[in-house]
Amino acid sequence: MKRLGRMIPGVIVTSSLLLPAGHAAGQSQEAGAPLELKYLGAAGWEITDGNVIVLIDPYVSRLKYGGGGHPDDDRPDFARDDIARSDTDLIDSIVSRADFILVHHGHFDHLGDVPYIAAKTGAKVIGTETTITILRAYGIPEEQLYAVGGGEDYRFDGFSVRVVPSIHSALGEKHYFDSRRYDRDSELEAPLRIDQFIEGGSLMFVARFDRHEVLTMGSMNFVERELEGLRPDILLAGINGSRLGLYNYDERLLTVTGNPPIIIPTHWDNFRLPYGFSQEANVARNLVPFVETVATISPGSRVISPTHLETIVIP
Ligand SMILES: [Zn+2]
Repeated sequence: MKRLGRMIPGVIVTSSLLLPAGHAAGQSQEAGAPLELKYLGAAGWEITDGNVIVLIDPYVSRLKYGGGGHPDDDRPDFARDDIARSDTDLIDSIVSRADFILVHHGHFDHLGDVPYIAAKTGAKVIGTETTITILRAYGIPEEQLYAVGGGEDYRFDGFSVRVVPSIHSALGEKHYFDSRRYDRDSELEAPLRIDQFIEGGSLMFVARFDRHEVLTMGSMNFVERELEGLRPDILLAGINGSRLGLYNYDERLLTVTGNPPIIIPTHWDNFRLPYGFSQEANVARNLVPFVETVATISPGSRVISPTHLETIVIP
């Protein structure tokens, strides 16, 4: 876990040495604002280049649901067939503005807080038809909603995003598979139950900021041919246990993406625990071995291990 200097509490500033000469397309280090990435936990991020604010799978509520919580966590237990709730006070304390929300898939730990955040911020949301159908059920206005299938490459004011077809983590020892989808004919009535937040297909995104290209992941899986030729300078890499059941996951991922100079593990924590709870077990299980692996298979890459609600600054 490499941290190169902590300038102010909660903000990790990376050294410019992280960026090999010639990356960031010949722009000088002085030009433009740095990229700031705040880790929201699970697969959630707030990323800004000072111009646009982009949220990725912003899941803040961290409900204790469907098992896997902690006995010391005295918050209420939610079953999967309970009505989904967002902790709106907590969201309000963390998320104030957003221009775009990119959603990898429809599961609750990705999409669960997006209805509230989209309504609150007016942000444009890009996701699968299932994701968009759920948001429609919550009354999010059509002009905010962009249903995509994968392969789109959209330009907006000061920001562009390529949508990359992907696949979900191989949960349940690889027995997970869910082909259900929602569309305009689906009868959904908000608020939904937690188990109505179905996957609905999975995506990745190439998010292009002022001086950085971020390849995002929301799962511990990918379609290798869809990543060929992508050269992000920052990879948000899905790093959790289920990837160990895949063939050479770490090596294939880093090789096909051109050994990105900066790799930031995502979705590595236990998202059923509130912020502030120890994540030591997941750090030991997921982050530490990954850092060691990258040092071996991609020695030119630097891994920055994120901490909840702290901001990583890339010059
Ligand atoms: Zn999922």
